[in-house]
Amino acid sequence: MIEIPRPVGLKNAYDVVVIGAGPAGSRCAKLIADRGLSVAVFEKRAEIGSPKRCAEGIGVKALQRMGYNGNERFVAQYIDGFYLYAPNGKEFVMDYGSPQGCVVERKVFDKFLAYDAAKAGAKVFTKIEVVDLLKDNGAISGVVIKYGEDVFEVKARVVVSAEGIEGKMARKAGIDNTNKLINVDSGYQYEMANLKLKDANKLYFYLGNEIAPRGYIWIFPKGDHVANVGIGIGGGAGVKRKAKEYLDSWIENHPEIFADASVIEENAGGIPVGGLLKDMVRDGFVVIGDAAHTVNPIHGGGMDEGTRAGEIAAEVICECLNREDVSHDALAKFNELWWKERGEKLRRIEKLRQVIERMSDDDLNFLADELTVQDIIDFAGGKNLRKLAKILLRRPKLIKLATILR
Ligand SMILES: Cc1cc2nc3c(=O)[nH]c(=O)nc-3n(C[C@H](O)[C@H](O)[C@H](O)COP(=O)(O)OP(=O)(O)OC[C@H]3O[C@@H](n4cnc5c(N)ncnc54)[C@H](O)[C@@H]3O)c2cc1C
Repeated sequence: MIEIPRPVGLKNAYDVVVIGAGPAGSRCAKLIADRGLSVAVFEKRAEIGSPKRCAEGIGVKALQRMGYNGNERFVAQYIDGFYLYAPNGKEFVMDYGSPQGCVVERKVFDKFLAYDAAKAGAKVFTKIEVVDLLKDNGAISGVVIKYGEDVFEVKARVVVSAEGIEGKMARKAGIDNTNKLINVDSGYQYEMANLKLKDANKLYFYLGNEIAPRGYIWIFPKGDHVANVGIGIGGGAGVKRKAKEYLDSWIENHPEIFADASVIEENAGGIPVGGLLKDMVRDGFVVIGDAAHTVNPIHGGGMDEGTRAGEIAAEVICECLNREDVSHDALAKFNELWWKERGEKLRRIEKLRQVIERMSDDDLNFLADELTVQDIIDFAGGKNLRKLAKILLRRPKLIKLATILR
């Protein structure tokens, strides 16, 4: 009998198997390995972090929470504020005076998270796809992996789905993470060089239904003449063209920035900007990150949220493994903790998104005249939405929208 070669270092069983080495999966794996448990991470891509599907912006606080000080080589650019433009061109400027965020190289950042997981003792595998789940009396008890043309079974006491927006294994575990079209933004992006930016330390956001229906266009600098230039637009009514077509038109209309620019990379991806899951666990199974739609619904940032979900999940999984109870009810503590810390806030932000997406450009301009830049920051963080409701009540045709914010 010919023995099929196994992936180097693969064991038959682990305490935890993590599906996907994106930010959520690697962060979760690291913290579980830190506690001395055995963890395998399976990533189907040949290179972790590549190709990127991200504008690569993240807050300094989030990096600090993960133990980074901002001097790591994944940092492409420090960010000390932003410019935001209403449809009529009204400019909002926020200058924090010191770096509050950065634009990272996802191809390096995701690897750093995977390095950290490996250093803590997790075993990370690339080019291995999880194609099915093992079940024992209805409980998830491991995964089926595909390595080249061969398949192997790997047992696990808990399986974590950190598969990103695809989330197929979560569905196989019985968690319905199919999302409504309205809750999924289409993203399209170029990394461009030789652009002319007035300030390379700030992010740029451009709003308007004509340029980006129910979304926005962004420029996230990665140096003084390099930037991610992208668009996220909402699914559903009002969208007449593809995301790329909207973005191309806008770039053509801004020769002052792009006349001499070149495209260095092109990428696209879906962003789950809503549809939070009440129950993210099953017997022996937890879903985190984009696979559980834990993205900020107003700006589409998911690295901070995904890694935080990974941290909370790691804590609960370790506790459950120590107590030798990985039933749905025991793992449900993850639902409780995550909803308390993140979910309620994200739900408020989702309502804000539902309000903004129903506004015409004229309504958005009206709003821009009533708001300060601090209001915009508060609203995007799910704070002080009562103020927004009060402003909406001043315009008869927006009164109905104010009720969404209740
Ligand atoms: C255009 C665009 C711009 C964005 N901009 C930003 C931004 O500026 N800032 C920000 O914070 N967020 C941004 N996001 C969102 C951000 O990219 C995601 O929220 C984040 O990557 C989610 O992390 P994750 O670990 O949950 O999933 P992912 O990063 O998607 O990782 C999932 C991993 O699982 C792997 N995988 C999937 N299925 C399997 C399987 N069956 N077996 C093995 N491996 C599997 C995938 O290959 C992938 O590597 C943007 C998204 C898009 C599309």
